[in-house]
Amino acid sequence: MVDDQFQLYDLKVEVVHGDRARPLVCQHRLGDTFFLRGSRIEIAPGSSFGMWAMLAVLPFLPAKQRPTVKGDWMTTDADIACTDPHCGAQFRITRLELKTYRHGDFTKVPLGANS
Ligand SMILES: [Zn+2]
Repeated sequence: MVDDQFQLYDLKVEVVHGDRARPLVCQHRLGDTFFLRGSRIEIAPGSSFGMWAMLAVLPFLPAKQRPTVKGDWMTTDADIACTDPHCGAQFRITRLELKTYRHGDFTKVPLGANS
């Protein structure tokens, strides 16, 4: 890999019923899915994803996209709870293909600036 390249996993985010002691209360549909490829979110055909669900999971996505070491909790933890404390839905993040990108495809800031 050359200096201006970096790698990101494609991610799949799927609604699961992770906490069975609680009902699904936010109009989640089990199996609804979106994908994150690079910086692009793609909602799977026939799926939808609620705004609050999206807000719960978004902060974790940039970290899950990046390769992490075995001991990092970000490597193992994959289920994010719904923001509604009464809701049993969770959003499962699965790493898919690891892709290589180029620095200049994402920013106009010169390589090496601010480092
Ligand atoms: Zn919910």
